[in-house]
Amino acid sequence: MGEHRPLFEFVDLPREEPEKQAITVRTHEFSEIYRSFKQPGIKEQSERCISCGNPYCQWKCPVHNYIPEWLALAAEGKYIEAAELSHQTNSLPEVCGRVCPQDRLCEQACTLNNDFGAVTIGQVEKFITDNAFEQGWKPDLSNVEKQPYKVAVVGAGPAGLACADVLIRNGVQVTVFDRYPEIGGLLTFGIPEFKLEKEVMARRRKIFSEMGIEFRLNTEIGKDVSYDELESEFDKVFLGMGAYKAVDGSLEEGQSQGVYRALDFLIGNTNHLHQYGINDRPFINLKGQDVVVLGGGDTAMDCVRTAIRQGAKSVRCVYRKDEESMPGSRKEYKHALEEGIEYIWFQQAEKIIRDDSNKVTGLQCRNTKTQEQTEIDCDAVIVAYGFRAEQVAWLENTQLEYRDNDTVLTSEDNGYRTAQKNIYAGGDMVRGADLVVTAIAEGRAAAESICEDLGVIT
Ligand SMILES: Cc1cc2nc3c(=O)[nH]c(=O)nc-3n(C[C@H](O)[C@H](O)[C@H](O)COP(=O)(O)OP(=O)(O)OC[C@H]3O[C@@H](n4cnc5c(N)ncnc54)[C@H](O)[C@@H]3O)c2cc1C
Ligand code: SF4
Repeated sequence: MGEHRPLFEFVDLPREEPEKQAITVRTHEFSEIYRSFKQPGIKEQSERCISCGNPYCQWKCPVHNYIPEWLALAAEGKYIEAAELSHQTNSLPEVCGRVCPQDRLCEQACTLNNDFGAVTIGQVEKFITDNAFEQGWKPDLSNVEKQPYKVAVVGAGPAGLACADVLIRNGVQVTVFDRYPEIGGLLTFGIPEFKLEKEVMARRRKIFSEMGIEFRLNTEIGKDVSYDELESEFDKVFLGMGAYKAVDGSLEEGQSQGVYRALDFLIGNTNHLHQYGINDRPFINLKGQDVVVLGGGDTAMDCVRTAIRQGAKSVRCVYRKDEESMPGSRKEYKHALEEGIEYIWFQQAEKIIRDDSNKVTGLQCRNTKTQEQTEIDCDAVIVAYGFRAEQVAWLENTQLEYRDNDTVLTSEDNGYRTAQKNIYAGGDMVRGADLVVTAIAEGRAAAESICEDLGVIT
């Protein structure tokens, strides 16, 4: 394949990303900000890969994608072959291409990164699958032999979906339960549409259903279906229930007018836009308000950018350290800057300031370097300090073991098997709030263990 490709393409052709929607448009709409790559762009950017022989990108990618190989196929316009190959290691490549922090993962590790600019791996990954689907391609399971085993997956987030994907490709019957009305977990209800449009997951649901995965949505395990019922109906159970306990900012967030929790704000907004019928997260409308978001991670970036799109008068992000220390993706930080978000560094929020009618008028902070007290005028505060896993009552009678931070005790070393026979777990409930691609990696690894334990060859 390589012999037809120009050898030093990466010198003459700079790294490029697809065009972004104009700021004036994108700050008013909940649509993905990147336009799709055009065909010559995909070919040229894929050709920049030098097949360096030691693909650090592949090792840094948590699912160890065959990146140089599918870049070579994309360079030749063989998108269906590239999609086949990328699905061998990744259950949701079109999602990872959109939301992975490539600047910390594959693209950071690219040999060209320091001197010439990394190959645009994420955007090519997204294009390959989108294009293959547009051409009518679907995973072909016609040669898969059906197995007499049934597995229940609790949670239709990336961990659960990846587990189900590998199981069904090995002929194991799989039923995915979720308390929400659509699959995706945080992909659908947490991550806003300017990063990942909802149609992407709706299309995936159709593909997965056609592959034979059964979805029982609007079904909460522990409430609508008991653990005993799961145990009696299924041979094995995979838990991919995520991490949803908000880290407390001690600002009465979620309990008083004008001070909100990040996920309440984001889920309420998605539900409002798409009418999913989720009743426990009312719409929080910040139009015309001076908004302050607390935190420096991906969730904080999603909140500031959602507030801008709702028509907030001003949006500031308050963080206790500096720009360098922010834990979230650089890419998303820059997008937020472009969209007019102001950052206030080295400030720790201490107290909400209210007027006589109890309306929020400001935030009292402490400068973490000088210890001076400061005040920021605002009408609304969103606390985005992150999420923790939590133990649930309906698993109390199992032998599951937990770490001190309430994550389920299991790991790659034991193939995501837990201390309870027949229960496997992965994703945020095992590693704490993390990434889509790490949840996918764990769901897939757990499915392989399940197949091994059932005696199904993978
Ligand atoms: C606002 C926000 C933005 C993010 N942005 C990014 C990003 O840009 N890039 C990135 O890589 N990561 C991002 N993340 C992190 C990423 O979304 C998570 O790490 C990932 O979704 C975890 O996957 P999971 O499958 O473990 O859990 P989830 O995605 O949380 O899925 C768990 C599912 O389990 C269901 N469930 C829970 N309990 C039950 C029950 N009892 N019965 C039935 N169903 C149940 C839930 O409804 C949910 O659908 C973001 C997270 C947030 C909150
Ligand atoms: S899954 Fe994520 S880390 Fe891996 S190649 Fe794709 S974008 Fe990069």
